[in-house]
Amino acid sequence: MSARLEPCVSIDFDSSALDEVVTKTKDWALMHGVCMRSRQNFSPDSINFAPFVLVPSTFPKKEFEKAIELQTLVNEMIYRIANNYEFLKTTLAITNTVDPFTAQLFKIYTTVQEEGVSQAIDLGLIRSDVMLGAEPEMPLSSFKLRQVEVNTIAAGFGWLGPSSGRLHRFVMQELGHGDKLQQLPENNALEALCGGMLKAWEIYNQPQAVILFIVEDISYNICDQRFHEFEIRKQNPNVRVVRRSLTQLGRGGAVLDAERKLIIDGQEVAVVYFRCGYAPDQYPSADGCEWDARLMIERSKAIKCPSISYHLAGTKKVQQVLAEPGFLERIFDNAEKVAKLRDVFTGLYSLDLNEEGDRAAEMAIENPEKYVLKPQREGGGNNVYGKEVAEVLKQLKDNPERASYILMDIIQPPLLRNWMIRPSTQPMLVDTLSELGIFGVIIGNSKEILHNSMGGHMLRTKIHTANEGGVAAGLGALDSPFLV
Ligand code: ADP
Ligand code: MG
Ligand code: MG
Repeated sequence: MSARLEPCVSIDFDSSALDEVVTKTKDWALMHGVCMRSRQNFSPDSINFAPFVLVPSTFPKKEFEKAIELQTLVNEMIYRIANNYEFLKTTLAITNTVDPFTAQLFKIYTTVQEEGVSQAIDLGLIRSDVMLGAEPEMPLSSFKLRQVEVNTIAAGFGWLGPSSGRLHRFVMQELGHGDKLQQLPENNALEALCGGMLKAWEIYNQPQAVILFIVEDISYNICDQRFHEFEIRKQNPNVRVVRRSLTQLGRGGAVLDAERKLIIDGQEVAVVYFRCGYAPDQYPSADGCEWDARLMIERSKAIKCPSISYHLAGTKKVQQVLAEPGFLERIFDNAEKVAKLRDVFTGLYSLDLNEEGDRAAEMAIENPEKYVLKPQREGGGNNVYGKEVAEVLKQLKDNPERASYILMDIIQPPLLRNWMIRPSTQPMLVDTLSELGIFGVIIGNSKEILHNSMGGHMLRTKIHTANEGGVAAGLGALDSPFLV
C-alpha cells in the first residue's frame, strides 16, 4: 500500500453531476486556451483541450513553499555550473566519449569557448521538477521534496501551468467550494518567463531587434508557445517574435553578419528562445544543417536561452555529479546554501565503467524496481524502469556505453484519487501522482548575476501505473496544487 493523500473536495459525484461539470470544464478549457494540437487527428487549424484532472491535487503547503523558496538557489547553481568550463569538461568527459548527442553539443561549446564568446550575457529560463518522496508507511506530515531534475532548455508550461490553476478555480466554484480558492496559490509563470525574455531584449539594446523562437516543424504544444508570444507583445508592443525551425535556419534562413549579429530576413535577433533542439531527432538532416544552425546561433551576438553551457548544465550526468559528496561545496562557498540544495537531492549514482559504477549496477540489478535508469536525454519517454533496469544493465556489463546512463533512486509520491479528463475519452477515476515544476529566471555574465528570481510553477499529474507523465506524450494531465 502506497501512502495516500485525500482529495481536496469530495469526488464521489453521481454520473449526471459528473457529466455536467466535466462538459462545462472542457468547454471552459477550449475557450480559455488550455489546449494542445492533437497528435491523433492533427490539423493546423484546430486544437483540443489539454488533458487535465478535474480537481486540484492536495499538496503540503510547507513543501510547496520550500520549493518556491529554493528556486533562486537552484538558478544560482545552474548559473555557476554553466559558467565553469573546466567543471563541465571534466564532468562530461566520459559521457562525451559514449554519447554522440552530448558530444556534439560539447563540440559547439568548445568551439565557441576557444574562439571567444560574442555575447557575455546568458538568459536562463529553467524549471526545477520535484516530487514528494514518501515511504509506504510514512505519516503524511513527513513527505519531503525530492528533486527529479532541472530543465535548462525548452522548459514548457509557462502558460499551461497558471491556466490550469484558473481552470481549477472555475471547477471549485462550480462545485460550491469557492470559499477555498485562497488555497490555490498565485502563479505568474507566463509574466515571469516573458518578463525574463524582455529583460534580455532590453539588455541587448537594439529597439528594432526581434525575439526568435526556435520551434519544431509541428508544435503540438502550440498554446503554451503562442501565449508566450502574445504575452511578450502585451508587455512590450514594440517587440516582435519570429518563429523558425533549426532546419529553416540551417538551410539559409539565417546569417551572421561581420559583427556576428544574427540576421533573419533582414531582422536582427536580440534573443533566441529554444523550444526545440534538446533531442537528437530535432537535428534530422543528413548534412547536419540543424547543427550548423545551432553553432551559428551560439557564435552570434544574440542572447541565448539557453546558451549551450546552460543546456549542458542541465544534463543528467551533471545532476549526478553534483550530488556526489563535496561537489556542491566546490561550487558554493556557503554551507547553508549547500545544505538547502542537498536536502532535496535523492540518491544518484554514476555508471562509469569502474568499481563505483559496477557497485551501482549490481545494486540496481538486485533491486531494479528501486531505481530509474536515465540516459542523457530530455523531453520524456527515455528512461528505463522496473525489470528492464536490470536487463539493460546486464547487457551493458563491461560495455563503456553504460557510462552514458546515470542511475537514480525511485521517488514514490503519495497517491491521490482524481478524475482524469482526456479528449475523446470517458472520464476515468484513477489513482494519480504528481510532479511539481518551479520556474526560475536568471540573467548573468561570467562575472555576475544581473537578475535571479522564482518564476511561478506548474503541476503535472499521471496515473500511478504510468512511468512517465508527459502531458503532450499522452500519459499526464494538467493539474494545480491545492495547499493544505
Ligand atoms: P526528462 O528530461 O526526459 O523529462 P526526467 O528525469 O524528468 O527526464 O524523467 C522523466 C519522468 O520520469 C519524470 O517526469 C518522472 O515522471 C519520471 N521520473 C524521473 N525520475 C524519477 C525518479 N527518480 N523517481 C520517480 N519517477 C521519476
Ligand atoms: Mg528534462
Ligand atoms: Mg523531466
